[in-house]
Amino acid sequence: MKKYLAPGAALLCLLLTVPAALAAGEVVVYSARNEQLIKPMFDAFTKETGIAVKFVTDKEGPLMQRLKAEGANTPADVLITVDAGNLWEAANEDLLQPANSEVLEKNIPAHLRDPQNRWFGLSVRARTIAYNTQKVKPGDLSTYEDLAGPKWKGRLCLRTSKKVYNQSLVGMLIAQHGEAESEKIVRGWVANLATDPFSDDTKTLEAIAAGQCDVGLVNTYYYGRLMKKDPKLPLALFWPNQNGSGVHVNVSGAGVTKHAKHKAEAVKLLEFLSSSDAQNLFADVNMEYPANPAVKPDPVVAAWGSFKQNPINVAKAGENQAAAVKLMDRAGYR
Ligand code: FE
Repeated sequence: MKKYLAPGAALLCLLLTVPAALAAGEVVVYSARNEQLIKPMFDAFTKETGIAVKFVTDKEGPLMQRLKAEGANTPADVLITVDAGNLWEAANEDLLQPANSEVLEKNIPAHLRDPQNRWFGLSVRARTIAYNTQKVKPGDLSTYEDLAGPKWKGRLCLRTSKKVYNQSLVGMLIAQHGEAESEKIVRGWVANLATDPFSDDTKTLEAIAAGQCDVGLVNTYYYGRLMKKDPKLPLALFWPNQNGSGVHVNVSGAGVTKHAKHKAEAVKLLEFLSSSDAQNLFADVNMEYPANPAVKPDPVVAAWGSFKQNPINVAKAGENQAAAVKLMDRAGYR
């Protein structure tokens, strides 16, 4: 009991600091995305609908644990988090319920949402190849699978397999190639590593820029952040698998909680977040791509070029996550 008193008290304080609802109701959000990212969208939503948004931010693990512990008593109506692996887990833990909405089905492509409508991707993050422009020509590059070949021996940098982004990437590989073939690919990557895996994507990019390795796999917004700081870095992005399966994409997204007290308002918020009005707010602030294909990315992001996405449903990242973790362990990917 005592264990949950402190977070509960913290929650209450946070809720009280948010301006009270005017008349049109309210919606309560648990968000693993930080206040700076979500507040502008919530303000725009309140302005348009009159519905007040109360929110709590924390890491996805604690938020999901809180939802589980609170059960039917949770004040949360909506969960926002990054990575389809996390959204899938929330649905799998029975923390979310279907939101059936024609607006959401129209705005969000089928491969970027839960087949049962328990969560919806709201921004797209592409996990693609980054390379050192002084050591690699774009013509040298082709596919994720090719990075497992002998040509890249001692030239590849990767982030740790502990990160959900790579677990999702391998989960998607399994969906595409099956386990045996995916394990061959991952073994090939490991054999080609220039150095031990890095703790984050930024360090991976810095190692490529410094010439410690020639190529790596990163989410594009980390490239965007780094190049904004130092535009002279010899780094570029490459879109692999364009004649085949497409670029591996993931999402940040949201779902309506199983025990939402304001379900109608919660669905309205998700619909708003999927709309042209909010999609740029959601995507641009972190240099991601809008999930709604009718909305153009930020000009800085658009300048990296357009690409074909892998159309496999991102839910596979979650479904195959456990298998992916075991596979990477067997393959010696640390
Ligand atoms: Fe990230």
